[in-house]
Amino acid sequence: MEVQKIGSRGILFNLPSQPYSVQIYTINSPNYLFIVDTGVVLENQMEEVKKYLEENNLLTKPVIIINSHHHHDHIGGLDVIESKFIIGHTLSSERLQQTIELLENYEAYQPAAKKLKPPNLTFEKELVFADEGVELFYSPGHTEDSISCYDRVDKILIVGDTLVDPLPSINWYKLDRFIETLESYKKIEFNKMILAHEKVLEGTEFIDETIYYIKKFKALEVDFTGFTENHALMYRWGLVNLAKNLMRAGKVEEAKKYLLKAKTDIENPIIKPKDESEYQGLIEEIEKGLKEYK
Ligand SMILES: [Zn+2]
Repeated sequence: MEVQKIGSRGILFNLPSQPYSVQIYTINSPNYLFIVDTGVVLENQMEEVKKYLEENNLLTKPVIIINSHHHHDHIGGLDVIESKFIIGHTLSSERLQQTIELLENYEAYQPAAKKLKPPNLTFEKELVFADEGVELFYSPGHTEDSISCYDRVDKILIVGDTLVDPLPSINWYKLDRFIETLESYKKIEFNKMILAHEKVLEGTEFIDETIYYIKKFKALEVDFTGFTENHALMYRWGLVNLAKNLMRAGKVEEAKKYLLKAKTDIENPIIKPKDESEYQGLIEEIEKGLKEYK
């Protein structure tokens, strides 16, 4: 675990995971300790964070946990530190309940699933802790239930998975809304942006690069020049996950477009996974989707 102090009251914990490291951020405000995200289910990242917080006497105030969104790599340690509130978007409660039900189907995940709790404080547009200088706001794009956190004192913007390096993780079909969220970030005065995986960024260049990619992705015109394995990973799963999401929304024709593109592109050596089981898994997903909606 790497620990980095940020601004006057922030601590960033970077913990190993695959394919990307996980970042957990805490804000020590006058009356609370805010913790943004709690790591991957079954990976115990929060145990290490808890140990650090205890050793540095940072668990003396009531804790407020913030779920940036419902994905299993952001909510894994909800039960590790006792918290007054678990905050998430209104849609997050239902989504997290779905995640819990899904995990309960697998024996290895059952004990972990029992410990997951949906948020007990939710909001739709924004939630401001004025005395604490902490602002939470709706920022859909990566998922429909994504939220962001802004520390007004240190001007730190915590974006969850809205930005992922090197390429955005696309799962939700409203790509224009995703771009709107990214544009809104550019209007915020921030010193640093904390991504939920790997990185801390300054400036708005990466936001613009992400917007450019999403536009190209939407038009099925992504240029693979300079693609690394991580680019390829985000790209191929973006196509498949977007298609699945489009199907769920009843947008069958559009879904097919992305599935057919995925079918072609995964045969391209730049995009094709090196791992045979991933490759087979992708083919299965693509064929299942195409068959279902012939
Ligand atoms: Zn996510």
